Amino acid sequence: MSRLEDYLETIQPELINTARLFGMEEKLPLFRMEAEEEKDLYRICFRYEDAAAERSVPVPSDPDPRVRELHRKRAARRLCKQACYDLCRKISGIRPPWGSLTGVRPTHLMLEALGEGLTPEAAVARLTEEFDVTPEKAELLARIARVQGELPAPGDGWMDVYIGIPFCTTRCAYCSFSSGEIGSGKLVAPYLGALEREIGAGAEILRESGKRLRALYVGGGTPTALPEEEFRRLLDCLLGAFPDAREYTVEAGRPDTITRDKLRAIRQGGIRRISINPQTMNDRTLQVIGRAHTARQIRDAYALAREEGIPQINMDVIAGLPGEGMAEFSRTMEEAVRLAPESLTVHTLAIKRSSAFGEKQTAFRQGRGEPALLPSGETAAEMVRLGRDTAQGMGMRPYYLYKQKYMAGNLENTGYALPGAECLYNVDIMEETSHILALGAGGISKRIYPEEGHIGRAPNVSNIEAYISRVEEMIRRKRELFLEEKG
Ligand code: SF4
Repeated sequence: MSRLEDYLETIQPELINTARLFGMEEKLPLFRMEAEEEKDLYRICFRYEDAAAERSVPVPSDPDPRVRELHRKRAARRLCKQACYDLCRKISGIRPPWGSLTGVRPTHLMLEALGEGLTPEAAVARLTEEFDVTPEKAELLARIARVQGELPAPGDGWMDVYIGIPFCTTRCAYCSFSSGEIGSGKLVAPYLGALEREIGAGAEILRESGKRLRALYVGGGTPTALPEEEFRRLLDCLLGAFPDAREYTVEAGRPDTITRDKLRAIRQGGIRRISINPQTMNDRTLQVIGRAHTARQIRDAYALAREEGIPQINMDVIAGLPGEGMAEFSRTMEEAVRLAPESLTVHTLAIKRSSAFGEKQTAFRQGRGEPALLPSGETAAEMVRLGRDTAQGMGMRPYYLYKQKYMAGNLENTGYALPGAECLYNVDIMEETSHILALGAGGISKRIYPEEGHIGRAPNVSNIEAYISRVEEMIRRKRELFLEEKG
């Protein structure tokens, strides 16, 4: 086997993701690939029936054999994906908005280009030419990079803390998280007991590591799904353990879990930022997606949060929900303007296999039941544009972006915020530039090794009962990750 073939040995999952951009993953096994190394060139050709796409690239060289190997492998794999992309594009006639990019963090490529000293215009040109990203999306990345450049840089001396509350009142039909419905609530007390133990141990890890706390984010699940007394107890515990964060955020996603007492506990704790997430302001859709609350409850929750003096509220909405067209999404955007959040995150629906929608789609493919009535990719793209225009009309700027698999129209999720209302944690988690100490079921702690371009991970188990019984093991994993030197 040649070196080139060697590098491509495990490329198949990436090719599947590439073909999936065009809905062509079932045709992929019929593609024929030729890979050759000739006269200092890597050459790869894909063929399907009469169509063919060929690309070549000079074989990278570097005096350091380790660096040379790394660059050659990267060049070979990139070339292979791009040739496969070209063939899919040729056959289908489709141009995906993000071109051949299949990873979840396209901002990395923009930051990489700017880091090499390219001007924003040249970086946009590189993304459009090399990866076929549309100018609209490449320019969005350039704007995001500019805003991120204004935020306090993370750096090795800082750490973020994530605290997960894996309970929700009901399960959204698109949810693939491990959150359990709160049900009888019998797991709440033992879960909080275990979490408090881990919070105490996490504070020790932070102190022993010598790092400073940057952003603390309480997410889930829905943290405000906890009963009032337990919610206060949790805030007391985490603010006692982590008193000096630059930024605190508490997710209060479902309006039916928000009470005056919980908002007061948030404010009294000095927390300035919460997230109240309608997803849509259409009652029919809210029912279809299993949210068990109404648009009216969203309005009331915003009014209550303002009354209690919460200065920063984030709003999440989703483009591409079942049964929605432009009229429904426009209504949601009009309501967003009226509610005037400080930040707006425009998601695109992603249907994961493990969600209720995913199961419904699978059943339909197997000849059972009805499909979910989803808007077309073009309509979802129109919605995303309207989300952008609405956010910009409110004075917001895009500041973070990520993609997920199975997103409608191969689109993206973008966070917009008023200047100064950007959430540092959201940037850190997406850019993977900050150490993250993640506490609670399902949290994944990350230690960044910037020099080596490596990220060490320590995952907590997702199952709530397993987390409760194995919390000491979860603590040990994190101590090893953050306090032991890499071997
Ligand atoms: S609120 Fe979030 S975590 Fe809870 S069920 Fe819905 S999507 Fe899942």
